Amino acid sequence: MSIEIDDIRALVAKVIREMDNEHVKTDIRHGIFSDMNDAIDAAERAQLELIRISLDKRQKIIQAIRDTAKENAELFADMAVEETGMGRVEDKIVKNLVAAEKTPGLEDLRSESASGDNGLTLVELSPYGLIGSITPTTNPTETVINNAIGMIAAGNAVVFSPHPTAKNTTIKAITLLNQAIMKAGGPANLITSVEEPSIEQAEVLMKHKKIRMIVATGGPGVVKAALSSGKKAIGAGAGNPPAVVDETADIEKAAKDIIDGCSFDNNLPCTSEKEVIVVDSVADYLIFNMKKHAVYEMESPQELKKLEELLIHDGKVNKKYIGKGAAYILSQIGIQCERNIRAIIMETAANHPFVQLELMMPVLPIVRVKDIDEAIRVAVEVEHGFRHTAVMHSKNIDNLTNFARAIQTTIFVKNGPSFAGIGVGGEGYTTFTIAGPTGEGLTSAKNFARKRRCVLIDGLFIR
Ligand code: NAD
Repeated sequence: MSIEIDDIRALVAKVIREMDNEHVKTDIRHGIFSDMNDAIDAAERAQLELIRISLDKRQKIIQAIRDTAKENAELFADMAVEETGMGRVEDKIVKNLVAAEKTPGLEDLRSESASGDNGLTLVELSPYGLIGSITPTTNPTETVINNAIGMIAAGNAVVFSPHPTAKNTTIKAITLLNQAIMKAGGPANLITSVEEPSIEQAEVLMKHKKIRMIVATGGPGVVKAALSSGKKAIGAGAGNPPAVVDETADIEKAAKDIIDGCSFDNNLPCTSEKEVIVVDSVADYLIFNMKKHAVYEMESPQELKKLEELLIHDGKVNKKYIGKGAAYILSQIGIQCERNIRAIIMETAANHPFVQLELMMPVLPIVRVKDIDEAIRVAVEVEHGFRHTAVMHSKNIDNLTNFARAIQTTIFVKNGPSFAGIGVGGEGYTTFTIAGPTGEGLTSAKNFARKRRCVLIDGLFIR
């Protein structure tokens, strides 16, 4: 039997294809290192390769990240809920999908130019190089997808420092996205991390001389640490979003929107409604309508006391209950109710810890006030100057304007659920890194790029 050269070629091609597939199928942890320094060195090599390849290929890499994130949205949601014990699978799927589909890519990077008698000046958006991204447990894979797209689109490589309680889920996302990048013809290790993330590892990342920019997405501690790093830093910190309802609002709709927003992913998003401030004349009708949306109304002061003892310890939120479902929380104080209960509502004073603290649970305190002026004053006070997110239900343009002016939040949602502010059912792109403290707002690729000016004298001026 004789073998033709074409048969040999076909056989070799088949073996290479299978090896390639095996390589992708196996659980090799692409981009994951035991030592943070190695993770940084590998990402540095990848970034140098990235800026050598064409923008067309970079676009294909971004598309591959989007496709892989979409294909694995369910897996990521399942893993995150299983590992962290927080949130709701169906809502996390939505968050992963919106991160994959609505995070801006290369189109976000627009050059500027000025031309005149002296020639042409061009301002281009160039990469920082290596970005250190510290991610939260509340949106583990969403933040990786979102930041990877924006940061790589701008020409950077990213070294992630995941929250330790979401490490397996975050590492899985990094591994799969790296595989996708390589299959699309990109370099290995464009996004990296460590096997055992910790605050100590995050500190190594923040101090490393090769890291040019730190992006911290989390509570006040990590934002403060990032801003003290001595590097260019973007800080996306905590919020405590109030939802204000005045007498001109569509109350039936406001009730539904508020419960939808506050129960989304069991209230984990930093943007979710954390308390309601409602004018007295419509308060009863609002609560009446909220009760049509699978909520438990806590009316007994004894029950409220028990719930407070469960959820607040030494003036701080009991982390055990963050992101847990309403029925589970109620069961812990001996109240059995239907499993599909989405939120627990109750009337409280404005100084109640449920109003003052960022609970991140589907527990929604309602504060009754006499008029819109008091509503605005109380809402500004309980937002604590985070300038993160606020919601208002009103048809009165003056009231809407006055509240938006007074509260100065990065996101201000009018007549919708809070998640409309990050592009879920609202116009505009998405982000999972909302930088209030450092002012970038809803971050995207352009915030991960440096402005550089190129000046050409006496030429290319064609006006
Ligand atoms: P967290 O602050 O506990 O942790 C966030 C990340 O920072 C983790 O990776 C953690 O390991 C790291 N970290 C914490 N303290 C650090 C320190 N001193 N030095 C170095 N690294 C440190 O927050 P979390 O529980 O994961 O997430 C919830 C918090 O994040 C809430 O306050 C929420 O409002 C906020 N958040 C904000 C945004 C936003 O875009 N603004 C998005 C998501 C979450």
